[in-house]
Amino acid sequence: MKDKIYNVEEKFQDYLSDESRLQGQADGIFFPESEADIQEFAAWAYESRAAATIQGGRTGLAGGAVPAGGCLLNLSRMSRTGELARGRGGEFYLEVEPGLSLLQLRQELKRLKSEVELFWPPDPTETAASVGGIASCGARGICAPRYGNTGRHIARARIVLAGGRVMELRRGEQFISLAGKKIDLLDLFIGGEGIFGVLSRLTLQLQPRPRHTWGFMFFLEQKEALYAFVENLKKNWRELMPLGLAAAEYMDRSTLQLMEEYKEAAESLKAAPPLDPGVLAAVYLEAHCSREEAALEIADRLVDMAVESSCDPDRAWAVTGENDVEKMRDFRHAAATAVNYHLARARLAEPRLTGLEVYLEADCEDFAGVVEKYKAGCAGAGLKAAIYGHILGNRLRVNLLPESYAQYEEGRRLIKRWALELAGRRGKVDRQHGIGKLKRELFLQMAPREYLEDLQRLKEHYDPAGLWNRGTLLPPPCESR
Ligand SMILES: Cc1cc2nc3c(=O)[nH]c(=O)nc-3n(C[C@H](O)[C@H](O)[C@H](O)COP(=O)(O)OP(=O)(O)OC[C@H]3O[C@@H](n4cnc5c(N)ncnc54)[C@H](O)[C@@H]3O)c2cc1C
Repeated sequence: MKDKIYNVEEKFQDYLSDESRLQGQADGIFFPESEADIQEFAAWAYESRAAATIQGGRTGLAGGAVPAGGCLLNLSRMSRTGELARGRGGEFYLEVEPGLSLLQLRQELKRLKSEVELFWPPDPTETAASVGGIASCGARGICAPRYGNTGRHIARARIVLAGGRVMELRRGEQFISLAGKKIDLLDLFIGGEGIFGVLSRLTLQLQPRPRHTWGFMFFLEQKEALYAFVENLKKNWRELMPLGLAAAEYMDRSTLQLMEEYKEAAESLKAAPPLDPGVLAAVYLEAHCSREEAALEIADRLVDMAVESSCDPDRAWAVTGENDVEKMRDFRHAAATAVNYHLARARLAEPRLTGLEVYLEADCEDFAGVVEKYKAGCAGAGLKAAIYGHILGNRLRVNLLPESYAQYEEGRRLIKRWALELAGRRGKVDRQHGIGKLKRELFLQMAPREYLEDLQRLKEHYDPAGLWNRGTLLPPPCESR
């Protein structure tokens, strides 16, 4: 095995980091080409007690794929797909290898011959993300309010465990208790961030593509109008979702401004009109409807809500059809890319900076209260921030934008204060797109004790030597004792 592992010399330096820009270190890197290769690696790692960090597309924002010593297991050469299969109830399934990127999956679905157009609902918008990475982070994407958790769209998985044994799990067959809650064992590995084993093959459950896809972008100028529009949306969500409303996303002025600066480097943003100086925030909505009348009804209801909330519907963009909606979705995706672009530039002056993002689920408060609290906290700490994310559940991503290391440390303290404050009010760290290494401390502080103890117990069961993904989600072995 050892002769198949490359030294991490200059050629592989990029593999020591991911999109969080956290920098790690490793002795070697292995690129398996089959499940048998992963098994061979797992047997070798177990025998030689070598720690291993699993990598998919390295688009993670929490440093989960960043190595903390040991060896890297990079799955990018495992991107084959099987044949399309039908279930007894007519469902569509596709077996894939874990390194398949979202972009490759979409191309494959276009190529496959089936009587209906198919798609896989989880969509973290970053198309370089791999299916294995999306599954293991439980990255649900912006349309999760309609399609639910990533696990719902994975029917079966094969997992290589420590030592090289393969376990196959089908949804609905085996259950465990996690903090007193019965969960499907498959969902321990989906969302497990690679700490229990390697997802070596996944069977995706596909859906017929909605016949009518619409996108809407509202630009708001007044705070009162913005908060009234958002509350109106939340109030009407239960009626709009069955019609097809799938996503509701918020982008604040700072985010839009970063996107404006990012335009010089981003092909996807070039066609977008310049940012109006009066715009305070944007709200992106996406509808997936089987009937055109339903899409029209959603459009009418959104216009009515905008008028009721005193925002000008004439300033909104509305597009129909998958291609144009894709462009609008690219615009929303650019929020994250623009933050990363800003970080890359800030790191030229201060290389110790990493992504400094807080992602808390704060359903216990109203949207205005959450946004204003974040803004006041940043202003008090003298920090800039870009805030965007899901409107439902107030699952906002606050990206702090420090310009010096002192500001970076101040930002970390601020995040801790918010988390502690929220912990007292039923808030929690949102696990969507991973806890990784960067959010681990916060997660350990906020997660219920019983939940953490169960995670640790299961980790010891499936990975007794503590070799997979050290330092991700749970403390590394030396700290946990
Ligand atoms: C610009 C940008 C925008 C983004 N927007 C969103 C968004 O809107 N919503 C969202 O949810 N996410 C978003 N993301 C985050 C990111 O795309 C997801 O976290 C993605 O799911 C990670 O996939 P990956 O293949 O890159 O995984 P990696 O980053 O390589 O790994 C992520 C984690 O999964 C583990 N892992 C990877 N493959 C396997 C496997 N086969 N078996 C076991 N463990 C594995 C790794 O060890 C690591 O812990 C965005 C990222 C970027 C860069």
